[in-house]
Amino acid sequence: MVAVSENLIKIQADIEQAAERAGRNKEDINIIAVTKYVTIERAKEALSAGVTNLGENRNEGFLAKFEEIGESATWHFIGSLQSRKVKDILHHIDYIHSLDRKSLAKEINKRSQKTVSCFVQVNVSGEESKHGLAEDKVEPFIKELALFKNIRVVGLMTMAPHVDNPEEARPLFKKLRLLRDYIQSLHLDYAPCEYLSMGMSNDYKVAVEEGATHIRIGTKLVGKEL
Ligand SMILES: *Cc1c(COP(=O)(O)O)cnc(C)c1O
Repeated sequence: MVAVSENLIKIQADIEQAAERAGRNKEDINIIAVTKYVTIERAKEALSAGVTNLGENRNEGFLAKFEEIGESATWHFIGSLQSRKVKDILHHIDYIHSLDRKSLAKEINKRSQKTVSCFVQVNVSGEESKHGLAEDKVEPFIKELALFKNIRVVGLMTMAPHVDNPEEARPLFKKLRLLRDYIQSLHLDYAPCEYLSMGMSNDYKVAVEEGATHIRIGTKLVGKEL
């Protein structure tokens, strides 16, 4: 396998160029290394290479890696989260990217003693198989979250469908950005909603051009071995 450091250099160069094309600052873009397909060793290699954000999509995978790596990484939970499993991971997770229903918000709020930074997951493609709220449900959902004092909506997240040409994802990323701008304009104190978590291995350049602040990269950064 190619060293993570080598992949990282290439991705960072891509980000820098995409940011420049869009007139953005590259410092505003955070790379999350998605380690769900790789070993703990490989996740540690990513940290040594200078990545500070790690993402996992399952409790088991997260806990196995957290046990070894602990708080030396910033942890992002990017998968769908079952309410009954919230308590197992909540205290070790820095960001949840998959808040998409009230019952989950209620559980997070109940189990936490402090503010939890959450991204609301949006299904911008309208594909049935995708998790996340329909676009028109996002504003009412976020307004309902006022009930839950431990929840802070830091941004919106989406997963674009896998397409061969990443340009096809552009209108979806743009939609998420416009929705983020709208939520921001509501000035809700618990929902600053400044971030956009979008872009994966095949479409991160387009995502950065469209305003992504958090890109979630597995295959192209750490590879796929499990
Ligand atoms: C697996 C996964 C990724 C990373 O996918 P790659 O195509 O390997 O970069 C990003 N986001 C989510 C939500 C994922 O489940």
